[in-house]
Amino acid sequence: MLHVISEVKLPLMEKNLRRLMLDPNLIPPHKQTLLANIAAQSASMQMPCYLVGGFARDLLLQKPVNDLDVIVEGNAIQLGDELVRKYGGKLTAHQKFFTAIWHLPSDTSDTSDTLDLITARVESYKQAGALPTVKPAAIEDDIARRDFTINAMAICLDAEHFGDLIDLLGGQNDLAQGLIRVLHPRSFVDDPTRIFRAVRYEQRYGFTIEPDTLELIDQEAIEALSKLSGERIRHEFDLIFEEDNAAAMLFRLKELGILDVFNLPEFNGDYASLLNSKPPDEFDISADRVLLGYLLWLMDTSKDLIHSLSRRFDFTLELTAGLLSIIQLKKDLPLFKDAKPSAWTFLLERHPFISIYVLWLVTNESALKDFLVKWQYIKANITGDDLKLRNIPTGPRYKEILSKLRAAWLDGEVKNENEEQELLITLL
Ligand code: ATP
Repeated sequence: MLHVISEVKLPLMEKNLRRLMLDPNLIPPHKQTLLANIAAQSASMQMPCYLVGGFARDLLLQKPVNDLDVIVEGNAIQLGDELVRKYGGKLTAHQKFFTAIWHLPSDTSDTSDTLDLITARVESYKQAGALPTVKPAAIEDDIARRDFTINAMAICLDAEHFGDLIDLLGGQNDLAQGLIRVLHPRSFVDDPTRIFRAVRYEQRYGFTIEPDTLELIDQEAIEALSKLSGERIRHEFDLIFEEDNAAAMLFRLKELGILDVFNLPEFNGDYASLLNSKPPDEFDISADRVLLGYLLWLMDTSKDLIHSLSRRFDFTLELTAGLLSIIQLKKDLPLFKDAKPSAWTFLLERHPFISIYVLWLVTNESALKDFLVKWQYIKANITGDDLKLRNIPTGPRYKEILSKLRAAWLDGEVKNENEEQELLITLL
C-alpha cells in the first residue's frame, strides 16, 4: 500500500491551540483577521462559536488549514446577517439546515472565497442511508454526529477561551496513534459514505482504520452502501480522484470488497503514477484530474460496462463520452499503426482531447502526441470562399476538396501555396 506519512508531522498533544492559531504558515493572516471578526461578532450576540472537523484535525497535524468551518451555538443565519451588515459580502441562507454561506467581501479574501457558518445541531436518520433531519443543539451534540474521533474535535473562538480544544471523544489520542475510529457502532449503516471517508483519511495520512471500526464495515453496512444513489457514490469517487494518493485509496476499496459491490474493476497499478501527471505545456490542453482519474481507471473495460456504470452512477456526459472514446481509440490504435498523419488526424479529431491525451500517457504512441501538438492545427490555405470564387457549385464536393487539400498538407505532399494551387487544379 502507498503511504504519504512523510508529509504529516506528528500531532501535538495540546489543550490550547492559540499558538498554532496565530501561526501565519498554518492560517494566513487575512484568515486570522476574519476569524477574530467572527469571534467578536458572535460574542457580542452571546453565541459561542467554534472551528470544527478538518480544521482542528489539520491544525493539530500542523498542516496548513484550508476550510474554515465555523459552528455557532445559537443561529448561524443571524450571525451571518450581522457579519454582512458590518463587513459586507453576501449571505446565502439555508433555513432548513440552519446554515449560511458567507460570500466574503473581496478585501477579506484572496479571491471569491466563501465561508460556511453552521448552527450546532443534532441529526436523526429516518432510515439507513437517507439524508438526516436536523435540529439546533449544543456543540457537544454537534460533535456526537460526526464521522470519526479525529474529526470530532472543536476549537473555541471566544476571547476568553480562544484556542481551547474541545476533545470529548479521544480525537487527539487517535490522531497521535494514527487511528480512524467511528463514534458509535451504527455509524456506517447510518451513513455508508463514511466507508469512503475512512479510506480517504487512512490513505491520505498513512493512518489505520481501528480494528473494531474495520469490523463494522460488514455485510449490513455494505448493503446500506449499495442502496445509496449513484450520484452520492460518484461524488465519493470524485473526491478520491482529487487526492494525491487516489490509487492507494482504490486499492484499499478493492481490498474491502467495496468495488465488487458495484461491479467496478480494480485500479491498474501500472497507471498509479499517471494520476498526478500534468500535460506538458506544448499540449495546450487542461486535464481535469477527476476526469483523468476515471479515464485511467476504466479505460481497459468495455463500452457495455461504461453504459451501465454511466446509468448507475449518473456520470456526466463529458465523462461518458471521454470513456467511450478512449475505449474505441484503444481498439483503433493497432489498425492505424502505419497510417499517414491525415488518417490519424481525421480519426482523432472526432474524439475529446482528454481521451487522446490519456491514451498517449498509457501507450506513448507518438501519433497521438503529434496530433495534439501539431497536426490538429494544420489546415489548408484554400477555403470555401476560394472555391466559390472559382464558381464551383456549393455542395458536398467542397468538403471533399478541402479535406484532400488538408490531407496533402498533413502528409507533406504539399509544402507551399503554389503546390496547393496546383493540387487544387487536379482536383477540379
Ligand atoms: P477534508 O480534508 O477531506 O475536506 P474535512 O474534515 O474538512 O476533510 P468535510 O467533508 O469538509 O471534511 O467535512 C467537515 C467535517 O464535517 C468533518 O471533519 C466531519 O466532522 C463532518 N462530516 C463530514 N461528512 C460527514 C459524514 N458523512 N458523517 C459525519 N460527519 C461528517
